Amino acid sequence: MEDILKVENLQIHFPVMKGVVFKKQVATVKAVDGVSFSVKRGETLGVVGESGCGKSTTGLALMHMLATTSGRILFEGQDVTSFTRDQVKQFRRRVQMVYQDPYGSLNPRMKVRDIIGEPLEVHGLDKDREKYDQRIAELLRMVGLLPDMADRYAHEFSGGQRQRIGIARALALEPSLIVCDEPVSALDVSIQAQVINIFKSLQKRLGLTYVFIAHDLAVVRHISDRIAVMYLGRVVEIASRDDLYKAPKHPYTQALLSAVPVADVDAERDKERIVLKGEIPSPLRIPSGCRFHTRCPAAMDKCKTQDPAMSEHGGGHAVACHLYA
Ligand code: SF4
Repeated sequence: MEDILKVENLQIHFPVMKGVVFKKQVATVKAVDGVSFSVKRGETLGVVGESGCGKSTTGLALMHMLATTSGRILFEGQDVTSFTRDQVKQFRRRVQMVYQDPYGSLNPRMKVRDIIGEPLEVHGLDKDREKYDQRIAELLRMVGLLPDMADRYAHEFSGGQRQRIGIARALALEPSLIVCDEPVSALDVSIQAQVINIFKSLQKRLGLTYVFIAHDLAVVRHISDRIAVMYLGRVVEIASRDDLYKAPKHPYTQALLSAVPVADVDAERDKERIVLKGEIPSPLRIPSGCRFHTRCPAAMDKCKTQDPAMSEHGGGHAVACHLYA
């Protein structure tokens, strides 16, 4: 299968300005600082990391919603970062986003029909009202809702139902790729599994590709084919789901995984939990050398000065850590 998406050394830096009249740049926030990965057509890449690691900023850049500092984002071979307005409009038909907050991302005063139909209107696909209504009914059915819910308002629905409406809206233009930014983290655990199952069945039916962003390795496990772990603006490990869960290499991935509960009660009791020191550093002051060295339980002297490069260890399993150089 070919790559539908390729991200090459993506950097997104924000200047920090000071002064009212004469503004002066005093620092730089390196939100995304050299991210590379690729996604094959029809697969799901999970992107995981703590809050502030740059995963959502990366997601917005994939959608052409943020200016990039450098690097390339290739969608079907074309560099999204240099698209014109017209190209962006066409691109929006192929790439859509599902947002984290099903409460904030849907206007509560709009009818479901208008929410789901908005992308169709923007692209002038609402002129034939009969076809338009049929499409709204079909989209509602695809996400497990009833067509007669189209005339109700978003505020009348539960969180899980609202996220289904958000998914239906994302599907309206028949995209190939959907960027899902923490789409279940605002939902109750019992509802999360239902929504993940909807994503999975839609993928099977429509051949969709997902970039699935989450802060929790437990969530991405059930949907991802491969997983990229991000720390402070970089991908530090990327592997197939099975490789990552069975044999995580990076000390950060090992720590994240040690916090994921396992179903077996005995295994859960005997499991060693790796507790990381301190908080994730500010992207304003990225540590020298390996950016994880201030929290890493395996840090060595050279980790303070030498930035580890990504090295490949078979089967597409790559890690940025001196332990494996
Ligand atoms: Fe830890 Fe050093 Fe590996 Fe960084 S390079 S993850 S500090 S062992």
